[in-house]
Amino acid sequence: MKRILLLGASGSIGQQTLEVIYNHPEDFVLVGFSVGLKTSEVSKIVSQNPSVSGFCIQEATRREELQKHYADKKVFSGDQGLMDLIAKIPCDLVVNALVGFVGFPPTVAAIEKGYDVALANKESLVVGGELIQTLLKKYRVHLFPIDSEHVALAKCLHQHASSEVERLILTASGGSFRNLSREQLSRVTVEDALRHPSWSMGKKITIDSATMMNKGFEIIEAHYLFGYPLEKIDVILHDESKVHSLVEFKDGSFLADIGPADMRIPIAYALYGGQRNAPSCQRLHLEDFGDFHFHRFDPHRFPCVGYARQALTHGGTALATLNAANEVGVYAFLEGKIDFLKIEAIIEKCLAEMPLIKHPTFEQIVLADRQARTFASHLIKENLV
Ligand code: NAD
Ligand code: MG
Repeated sequence: MKRILLLGASGSIGQQTLEVIYNHPEDFVLVGFSVGLKTSEVSKIVSQNPSVSGFCIQEATRREELQKHYADKKVFSGDQGLMDLIAKIPCDLVVNALVGFVGFPPTVAAIEKGYDVALANKESLVVGGELIQTLLKKYRVHLFPIDSEHVALAKCLHQHASSEVERLILTASGGSFRNLSREQLSRVTVEDALRHPSWSMGKKITIDSATMMNKGFEIIEAHYLFGYPLEKIDVILHDESKVHSLVEFKDGSFLADIGPADMRIPIAYALYGGQRNAPSCQRLHLEDFGDFHFHRFDPHRFPCVGYARQALTHGGTALATLNAANEVGVYAFLEGKIDFLKIEAIIEKCLAEMPLIKHPTFEQIVLADRQARTFASHLIKENLV
């Protein structure tokens, strides 16, 4: 029985992780969780999981009231509360389904506590991939990706030496605007952007898919997870989101991971420690998959992928800058403060202007994040992009 601590239980990945846990009660038990502002989720999760001994909410103002109500549980709040949850609730696996930089310190804390991590929070690897790899070795713990492309790559790479591998190929749906020209992109609305063709996900990653920064992040993730250099990681557009990624081998053959577009499959793979088990969703017969279409990826159409490659080439705090500029840009767009294409402009400017520290410490990454956020917000406020 694996004891699971789930961060971000109220989100898209969090809710699907709960489904996987409920579908396999003989293998998993939830011992702690966090929600953001949706505190209505707390009573549902606690009543379905009697083994929960603590939880964390985002807003400190509601902590006392909830602590009174749940007197036999430890109730934490805020960013520090996420760290306290990891420190105080013993578990076997931390599932990090938080969105954004806020997920990075808990990933580090979990590893330092000696816990294996199932990671949906890709921003952790984007901002601190190098540090995380060092810590994984030092504390001898495992990190299992939840992102569907990386689970696909892990499956395809299984039992193959890196000397056999020609390149990793990440598939991309192209997001909500895959059929629009750059000229048309200048007029899109938030509503349009939130209509993803194949996945139902949280708002931030849906916008990241529309700008294709999501694929840029996934290149960085793949680099740190599997250790391949940037020039061996490519992107291909694939309309149906059924081929989750591929590996091309030296002999000219490919291995692909094919399956329904259902995140419960990669989530279960990560929860089982990188192993397959009984399906967590409806099976899809191969005859019913329909046609697969692939298209060449055009880097000029989606410059965010180029910014991600640039940040990874510079390394160090350029990656925290990339992520912070993106987060500020995405939320400003969601709040109607800037046009869609301004997200790219903010990232480009921040990468050009912010200082670079190679091989940063945890504290230097946090500081670089804060500085880039301040600068990006200033660019928006003063209309400088
Ligand atoms: P979401 O917005 O649906 O959920 C995010 C969770 O984080 C929620 O529980 C929210 O309350 C919590 N949260 C956000 N800010 C917080 C804060 N400041 N303090 C405490 N809690 C906070 O997002 P999601 O779509 O589930 O994505 C989660 C992560 O998984 C992201 O990094 C995303 O890129 C990655 N991911 C998602 C999918 C998907 O299908 N949704 C696929 C691959 C990777
Ligand atoms: Mg993905």
